[in-house]
Amino acid sequence: MSAGLNLAQLQAVHYTEGPCLVLAGAGSGKTRVITHKIGKLIDNGLAPKRIAAITFTNKAAAEMRERAKGLIGKPAKDVMICTFHSLGVRMVREDGHVLGLKPSFSILDSDDVTGILKDCAGGTTDVATARQWQWTISNWKNAGWDSRKALAMAQDDHERSIALIMQRYEERLTAYQSVDFDDLIGMPMRLLKNHAEVRDKWQRLLGHVLVDEYQDTNATQYELLKLLVGERAHFTAVGDDDQSIYGWRGATLDNLKKLPIEYPHLKLIKLEQNYRSTSAILRAANNVIGPNPKLFPKTLFSELGEGEPVRIQDCDTEEHEAERAAMRIQSLRANMNPQPAWKDFAILYRANHQAKPFEKALRKLNIPYKVSGGTSFFDRAEIKDLCAWFRLWINNDDDPAFLRAIGTPKRGIGHTTLGKLGEFSGQHKLSMFGALFSHMLAAVLPKKAHEGLLEFGRYINDLEYRARHTLGAEASRTFMLDWLKEIGYEQYLYDSEDSETVAAARWTNVLEFCDWMSQRAGGQVEDAAGTTTQTEVKSLLEVAQNIALLSTISEREKEQDMVILSTLHASKGLEWPHVMLVGVTEGMLPFKLDDNDGKQEKVSDDIAARLQEERRLMYVGITRAQRTLVVSWTKRRKKGREMVQCQPSRFIKEMNLDASTAREDPREKLRQLREQLARKVEAAPKLLENQKL
Ligand code: ATP
Ligand code: MG
Repeated sequence: MSAGLNLAQLQAVHYTEGPCLVLAGAGSGKTRVITHKIGKLIDNGLAPKRIAAITFTNKAAAEMRERAKGLIGKPAKDVMICTFHSLGVRMVREDGHVLGLKPSFSILDSDDVTGILKDCAGGTTDVATARQWQWTISNWKNAGWDSRKALAMAQDDHERSIALIMQRYEERLTAYQSVDFDDLIGMPMRLLKNHAEVRDKWQRLLGHVLVDEYQDTNATQYELLKLLVGERAHFTAVGDDDQSIYGWRGATLDNLKKLPIEYPHLKLIKLEQNYRSTSAILRAANNVIGPNPKLFPKTLFSELGEGEPVRIQDCDTEEHEAERAAMRIQSLRANMNPQPAWKDFAILYRANHQAKPFEKALRKLNIPYKVSGGTSFFDRAEIKDLCAWFRLWINNDDDPAFLRAIGTPKRGIGHTTLGKLGEFSGQHKLSMFGALFSHMLAAVLPKKAHEGLLEFGRYINDLEYRARHTLGAEASRTFMLDWLKEIGYEQYLYDSEDSETVAAARWTNVLEFCDWMSQRAGGQVEDAAGTTTQTEVKSLLEVAQNIALLSTISEREKEQDMVILSTLHASKGLEWPHVMLVGVTEGMLPFKLDDNDGKQEKVSDDIAARLQEERRLMYVGITRAQRTLVVSWTKRRKKGREMVQCQPSRFIKEMNLDASTAREDPREKLRQLREQLARKVEAAPKLLENQKL
């Protein structure tokens, strides 16, 4: 496991006897250390299933699994390569009964949570307010607070009222046998903290825990990690304080500061060589991050040569910016030798909504692309509809799923009936599904309405039974198609959409989803290339069990040859040969810091901290690039319906490109010119040939 590692990396890989922190800048091979260390631990005799490697996103986990497989082969499959959340799901499934939770609990998504919070306030609140509460409650949870603590800590009436809503929310979740995403970290943490037998079990199981992107862990994740590794503290954390970009979600650099204090025998290793980017790109990155205070001093250098200078592009509008980006991709594809693939290009921006003009421009030139980190396939209404049915099979007490499933498609059960059912279930402390089988319900509902509800309940039970006994891909697909026919889902889509094209597109999504789901049920599975493999057979019910979690997973996305459009946040840890950092306009990046569009005289502590985080975001963006980097901004930008005048981001100035060009080695320039010339000479016959045509 020592091939392709430098001395410092080797040191980190070989040190397996205690806590280890690798602290280093972007592209210095931190993630590589983790993959190699997994191999080393297995070589040392640690069983693969006793190793947990925790990454930040599901995409990163999937990539690490691939890399580990390449390095170690088959045993990699048993290593727990996961995110904090997927580890949390496993822990709560196995041991949540200690907290009174069934193994078949439901995982609520963000929309479900908003709905429940609205409900907790009597249903009169608007969505925006409910979202604000959601945000506050989530922050409290990430800090390890429950409603009791929130109530005790409340500073004013406003906070007190949110704490009371949180209390009701907690009661609802218990009644629904459901957890939200924050619980997937908080619950395992509490399980380990308060239940010695569970703690012993996990500490005995895990021989070594590795954590990537450690700088973005929050307080609860830190606690969880500490409890998982126990006194022995066999763990490896890798991170970069300059890439901490999730402060807004409760991540805290305190976790980095705390580590050497709480683990005095911590082995601290720094990596200084960047293997990803050219010197020109790295210098721009170092210049940008320069003004931020340093938690740990580090220097980064690259031996990949000066490379192409970083380019700044000013554009008139976002449409103009998008057109230029698309044309650049097309022209590099046509002129570079060897020809880059589409997936060698990435367009990175601050916020999801910025993708639109780029999508249009790429489509216009027939360039294949994929929006990553944007609206997920699984966030589409039709997919969520189907998932609601699955959730209900798995956990009959999941009221939000019950309400969604009973309404899609409509089954002639009206609001009044559902309202009465809700009231009845509240009075009798039953879930809605549980309540509809109560013999007392007949007394409060007209006969027809009662019959309708019972019929739905029986149908769910029947589906659940059938799904439990449906094994493998083939049978699962047939089952799903039959079921969709039974409930008339395709017709429902056509009835509820004005446009037939939209309805057809939604139905195609549904079919794609059915394929994807059934493939996961295993057996003889054929991939897109027509190769058949035999995988472990599961029941459709088992497949459905993880559905709420999978809804955030882009695992279904195969490595396709497509240009990537991504938010900066979602680009963390990844790399591309050619990167275009777009919308680097003051007010977008850095994001508007106050009402004066960043021109404030007095910079409060809060604003200063936010500016530092924005600067780190820019640093993350720049350091994704391996060979070329273009940074663009627009003179005008749409803001609502208006066009507003814009300034280039202050970060462009901070990149200090003039100075860096001045420092450019003339020999390097000559080499580049020679290379360009050679390319032109090589391309000449092809050009001539094209002309003949
Ligand atoms: P980030 O901070 O962006 O997450 P990182 O520190 O995790 O970056 P890696 O992604 O592990 O860096 O490595 C960056 C690139 O450098 C990868 O392509 C990796 O394969 C390569 N690399 C890392 N170490 C070496 C090495 N010793 N020799 C050759 N290539 C290396
Ligand atoms: Mg990394």
